[in-house]
Amino acid sequence: MTEKLYYKNAYDTEFKGRVRSCEKRKEGYHIILDQTLFYPEGGGQPGDKGTLGGVSVLDVHEKNGEIIHYGDGPLEVGLEVVGEINWEHRFDLMQNHSGEHIFSGIICKQYGCDNVGFHMGRARITIDFNTQIPGEDLPWLEEQANQAIWQNTPISIFYPDEKELEALEYRSKIELTGEVRIVTAGEYDCCACCGTHVKLAGEIGMIKIVGTQNYKGGTRLELLCGKRALDYYQRIHQAANEVGRALSVQEEQIGTAVQKLLKEKDTYIQELKKWKWEAFLGRIQRLPENTENVLIMEDGLGGKDLTALADLAAEKTCGRAMVFTPTEAGFAFVLVSRKKDAREIVEELKKSFDCKGGGKEESVQGKLNGDKAEIIEFFKEKEFVLAK
Ligand SMILES: [Zn+2]
Repeated sequence: MTEKLYYKNAYDTEFKGRVRSCEKRKEGYHIILDQTLFYPEGGGQPGDKGTLGGVSVLDVHEKNGEIIHYGDGPLEVGLEVVGEINWEHRFDLMQNHSGEHIFSGIICKQYGCDNVGFHMGRARITIDFNTQIPGEDLPWLEEQANQAIWQNTPISIFYPDEKELEALEYRSKIELTGEVRIVTAGEYDCCACCGTHVKLAGEIGMIKIVGTQNYKGGTRLELLCGKRALDYYQRIHQAANEVGRALSVQEEQIGTAVQKLLKEKDTYIQELKKWKWEAFLGRIQRLPENTENVLIMEDGLGGKDLTALADLAAEKTCGRAMVFTPTEAGFAFVLVSRKKDAREIVEELKKSFDCKGGGKEESVQGKLNGDKAEIIEFFKEKEFVLAK
């Protein structure tokens, strides 16, 4: 069994170890030492990263009491090597794991619930609780968790004997036997855990809830601690600042300002539609007397407007009205006919253009890929008048 140096002092970053075995595998070299500071993935906490005798350690796992380092190169068996863990990565995990304990301890006490899932992702921690946590409680819970930090609550680790363990009230996801490692955070939490932790809650810096959702009848919360929380705050603050400057308001007022802006946008869109419709009517009214067939080319028409305009034009002319609007891949069109079968024209269009479409005797719609001038010419020959 590998001696686990990370349990002696979670703050050590360098150690010496002798290579006991090294095997080439699919994901690299599996290296086992007599002792190691590298924490293996477990208890929701990802494995450490770092170097071992010049070889990069990309991941670490535990199997039957042996710590297996996944290295990107081989190491000679029997060799004594210097190992160095990536402290930034480890400390980030310590800050987040300890922060999670405090937060989960507070929630489980408050609602009498259990923490039924825990995952430390690369970006966020997710914690699942088997109860519905009201959204309005979250700011208060967040403040409670940060109180523990402001009090610089000590985080202690001990191994109680069987009797002590029996008398102890602690959180655990599974029934535990044998030696149990207990991590406490003052009055805030007492939990069985195999992870690495900070000594004082002050080192966590900050605990921030950044997401919440209903999950399997309970609640899933997303959490950031330490530098992750600061990085998040800086990103959000910069974004809020940019929006605030663009709208000439304080960051705290951007929500209201954006709502106001969206409302204004809706009003403008309605107004624009009204004016556009007036313009359509004007064009139809300006058509020469006795126009039977009309061709309308109009930018920016949605499907509904396209049909409505064609209907209106056909009504006025008592003949056929063809309306085209440009799209990303050519044109969309609607043809409404009060006299001839509308489908005839589409069949003819298909002979001259890359055209798809169909419909009923009185109206057809479709798509066409072609040059605007050629389309106008085509309809001129069919005695359609272009609406100006
Ligand atoms: Zn833990």
